[in-house]
Amino acid sequence: MSCYWSDVVRSLTPYVPGEQPRLPNLVKLNTNESPYGPSRRVLDALRAEIGETLRLYPDPDSERLRAAIAQRYGVTAAQVFVGNGSDEVLAHVFLGLLKHDKPLLFPDITYSFYPVYCGLYDIPFEQVPLNAAFEIAVDDYLRPNGGIIFPNPNAPTGCLVAVAEVERLLRANTGSVVVIDEAYVDFGGESVIPLVSRYPQLLVTHTLSKSRALAGLRVGYAIGHPDLIEALNRVKDSFNSYPLDRFAQAGATAAIEDDEYFKAMCGKVMVTKQQLVQDLQTLGFEVLPSAANFVFARVAGRDGADIAAKLRERGIIVRHFCKPVRIAEFMRITVGTAEQCAGLVEALREILRAP
Ligand code: PMP
Repeated sequence: MSCYWSDVVRSLTPYVPGEQPRLPNLVKLNTNESPYGPSRRVLDALRAEIGETLRLYPDPDSERLRAAIAQRYGVTAAQVFVGNGSDEVLAHVFLGLLKHDKPLLFPDITYSFYPVYCGLYDIPFEQVPLNAAFEIAVDDYLRPNGGIIFPNPNAPTGCLVAVAEVERLLRANTGSVVVIDEAYVDFGGESVIPLVSRYPQLLVTHTLSKSRALAGLRVGYAIGHPDLIEALNRVKDSFNSYPLDRFAQAGATAAIEDDEYFKAMCGKVMVTKQQLVQDLQTLGFEVLPSAANFVFARVAGRDGADIAAKLRERGIIVRHFCKPVRIAEFMRITVGTAEQCAGLVEALREILRAP
């Protein structure tokens, strides 16, 4: 700690991202990236950006990209906000739409960046426990609040709230913004974007890091009523006018336009997931129903941290969360290629066989 730090920085507990290993050849099933590369059209678009125009600032409003997203989801460009990864979009959402006197509500087991933003922006919050089946129960959110946010499917559990249930929440909760973080929706969930035209308090966030295989490009977006989007633009233009560089805008536009590749890759991940779930169950794992590109699984009575450490010794990394204690037995395993998942299952078989 330095005497030069501000009080805000002193009080922060920053988010700790999953390991990005420096060791080569590790099988990386810990941060929910795509096991497949991005579309060739993305790579061509990125190559086309290399040139003399890099001396110029990029489009501050990312107009082409926002138009492509608007077209893909049947909304107007005024309903679309883009940012440097959905983490940045979420940060602006917390400051611009979720900071109020009443507490923000989110699940007790969820994306662990949410409480970090609350710390950064001094936002009061309450964590709502998942039910006994590790699901989000909408009724638990029907109480006074300054906003509501949860991932759907949730992370790290993978469990999904049905669209009709989100709509029931929206009908009951009209006085504050409801943010549905759909980072993983493309792997088996149904998006609530069609509801934004009817519910002006609904904001939906997406990322290109998972289903579009572009974690390295850092692009995310939000879709909602133009008034919500204007709030986000006010924050953005008070923070960084050019959050998306020329490569990010060109690559993301190509990715959104290549729907065929996107659907094929999501399909492959979902097929592999089915096999992985079956194999894990055969080994004695309890696997929560997952609509995401990861599974949350445990063997009752076995420490998840211990199994994860033994996997690492065998060159496979998965994610384990120590807190809360209720999930200490679980590991979150990203769905890799069929070969990677088969290797994982073999390693687990060995580990579980040992006393
Ligand atoms: N939301 C959830 C639920 C996530 O798990 C992640 C990935 N860590 C993000 C948002 C952020 O993704 P990105 O910043 O890569 O768009």
